[in-house]
Amino acid sequence: SARRIEGLDKNIWVEITKLVSQHQVVNLGQGFPDFSPPQFVKEAFIRALNSENSLMNQYTRGFGHPPLVNILALFFGKLLGRDINALDEVLVTVGAYEALFCFFQAMVDDGDEVIIIEPFFDCYEMMAQMAGGRPVFIPLQPKPVSGRMVTSADWELDPAELANKFTKRTKAVILNNPNNPLGKVFTRKELELIADLCVKHDVLCLSDEVYEWLVYDGKEHVRIATLPGMWERTVTVGSGGKTFSATGWKVGWAIGPKQVLRHLRTVHQNTVFHCATAAQQAVAEGLTKELECLGKPESYFISLPQELQRKRDRLAASINAAGLKSILPEGGYFLIADVTATRSDLPDSTDPEELYDDKLVKRMITEQGLAAIPVSVFYSAEHKKEFENYIRFCFAKEDSTLSKAEKILQEWK
Ligand code: PMP
Ligand code: GLN
Repeated sequence: SARRIEGLDKNIWVEITKLVSQHQVVNLGQGFPDFSPPQFVKEAFIRALNSENSLMNQYTRGFGHPPLVNILALFFGKLLGRDINALDEVLVTVGAYEALFCFFQAMVDDGDEVIIIEPFFDCYEMMAQMAGGRPVFIPLQPKPVSGRMVTSADWELDPAELANKFTKRTKAVILNNPNNPLGKVFTRKELELIADLCVKHDVLCLSDEVYEWLVYDGKEHVRIATLPGMWERTVTVGSGGKTFSATGWKVGWAIGPKQVLRHLRTVHQNTVFHCATAAQQAVAEGLTKELECLGKPESYFISLPQELQRKRDRLAASINAAGLKSILPEGGYFLIADVTATRSDLPDSTDPEELYDDKLVKRMITEQGLAAIPVSVFYSAEHKKEFENYIRFCFAKEDSTLSKAEKILQEWK
């Protein structure tokens, strides 16, 4: 096989999906809702398939179905406070995943360094490596907290350490805001720190904002592309799947300056070329409706986070009642829990290579019927061991699913 894929064959999602399919489990593992997308986007999809306009079932424009790129330009024009050109500053991709892939392939060259903030969505490391790049990691550090529940805001970057990671070879910083798996929503101050370093060192920023609408407790989601000097160096990635609770549709996008986006288009046209037309039409209609009711109570972007905040609190309470410690997320749809307390009933492995969270999750799936994700998969080899006492739960689930999980957790006490 080609050298560029050496060592990249292991994948946690493939592994966990297989394990989950072999056991009866309450699945709080891989991140996807088990509830339906809103009726208005489903109806738009069905209308597209059945429309008299038979073209809805055929190829459309390769870089994005015109109604979708037009509404993305309008919508993000408003969010980013600038005019966005639908044809050369927007690219529609097969999920946010393909947008990430296009960025790495198009912009990262052999030996380029890519700064990745830990914990990170696992594919950034592999995609950087596949492009020949060298990932450089910086972990968020949990600060000591007493007398209250720890939140994702208590995990912080060390400004001096971050500044030290920038070298002459740094090509890009990867930001995931809100973050998967921690749920951290970066403050304006934290983003300014990152932005200032990007400008100073002339570095690109890949801002993965797939959970942009899922922000809780009235927190503000600040888009790094709106900070001074950042539009021209930032690619903002989004996901129709996360936005409309339809992860199987795999409609994503990249938005950024035309001098960068043209290179992402080159990768797209030489790999995927084209995304499913009717799914794009449905997402376009969904965004059109949402733009009309932006900020109003009837908006899905208001009702979904409200629902999810309630589910977050419910899961956090079940986890804490089981004697584990929730790290309350400010955004996204995952919650990580400190499972140090379980170490007394699960003996340390005889295999020094086996991480505690891996072992715990395997036992949970095979013996307790509850699936979660070991948090060490979101860390580099050098830092995994330090963070092996956390596991990740997805709370974008029906209340009935959360009740079943609660029951299993109750038996842990
Ligand atoms: N980025 C992050 C942070 C994610 O959690 C995911 C998983 N949904 C993706 C990108 C990929 O999104 P999509 O399903 O739209 O490809
Ligand atoms: N983003 C989702 C998660 O983190 C799904 C990951 C995937 O399918 N690769 O669970």
